[in-house]
Amino acid sequence: MLGLAMNEPTHSGGPAGDRFFYGAQLGADQPLRGAIQAGMPRHLQELFQAGLTRRQQGYRGRFAPSPTGDLHRGNLRTALLSWLHARIQGGEWLLRLDDLDQPRNRPGAAARIQADLQWLGLDWDGPPLLQSRRRGLYASVLSSLRRGGSLYPCACSRRLLADISAPHGALTVYPGFCRQKTLGWGPSQGRLPSWRLRLPDAAIRWPEVSPWPGCLEGATEVGDVVLRRADGLVAYHLATAVDELSLGITTVVRGDDLWASTGAQVALMAVLGAGPPRYWHVPLWRDPQGQRLSKRAAAEGLEGLRQGGGDGAAVIGLLAASLGLVPGGSRLSARELCQQLQMSDLIATVHAEPTPIQPGPKAGEA
Ligand SMILES: [Zn+2]
Repeated sequence: MLGLAMNEPTHSGGPAGDRFFYGAQLGADQPLRGAIQAGMPRHLQELFQAGLTRRQQGYRGRFAPSPTGDLHRGNLRTALLSWLHARIQGGEWLLRLDDLDQPRNRPGAAARIQADLQWLGLDWDGPPLLQSRRRGLYASVLSSLRRGGSLYPCACSRRLLADISAPHGALTVYPGFCRQKTLGWGPSQGRLPSWRLRLPDAAIRWPEVSPWPGCLEGATEVGDVVLRRADGLVAYHLATAVDELSLGITTVVRGDDLWASTGAQVALMAVLGAGPPRYWHVPLWRDPQGQRLSKRAAAEGLEGLRQGGGDGAAVIGLLAASLGLVPGGSRLSARELCQQLQMSDLIATVHAEPTPIQPGPKAGEA
């Protein structure tokens, strides 16, 4: 557990001063409480409470790819780090397939993801969890949030949001146009609204393993994210936050491009009355010039790596060498790597490269 102590949040300072801290007020050991508790159905309260109780019983991590295609080398490296972080500490590691966006799922991708992880020796505990089988749960949470006044309907068109965003970049923070509108759940002006989480103007904080302080400003860096899309689809942030809580996840290891998503999900957990898990945002795979790998290079999946190096031991060696964990050309199994590594070495080595780019809100989703 050495490395976990190195970045305990101080809960002081930062852009928000001492106004209010999501997460910091509600430790993982706190019972569920929050603004909507009174309106939350008993079965949801019990589910979330069971997840928080599970957190007390030891490390539980997860890897949560979307079956929209094969895992590329960047995904594989993040999977390796997530697995190592769990297994070095003797923890559980779950595999969750984030397959809610059915039109984007690719046939056979879920099976290939599992086969690739197995081939690399990244074993998971229990059967894979499918978000598509948990839609009823997400719908219950959405209804409860809506009844509690935490959501508001937004009828802004994509066109409008695109027009007001920066000329070159994607819109990062929703400006709150619809906050005061009173729209029904049903169709308005001929189409259904999306539903946004009403974020308080406060700092969002979480325990972070990387050297960066886990903190974002709710109003200016995260904004009112969509939890239910106009087409009825449950949004990624809702499903993810509900799953981390209800499954009792203690530690989320993910790429640092998801920094802003973490802010949104931690804010939602606070609305649900629970503190966040711990996060480790790991560096994306960058080329020697510090740039993100080109889409083509990043997209190279196991098939290309197999052709270049052969077996799983060579691929684990390649992934680990790219992080400085082993010398280039090493061949070893994931299990051998796990046995060799100390937690403090793992975290210090992964962050040894001075990365000038602090993960920030720019990676966010409107
Ligand atoms: Zn709107």
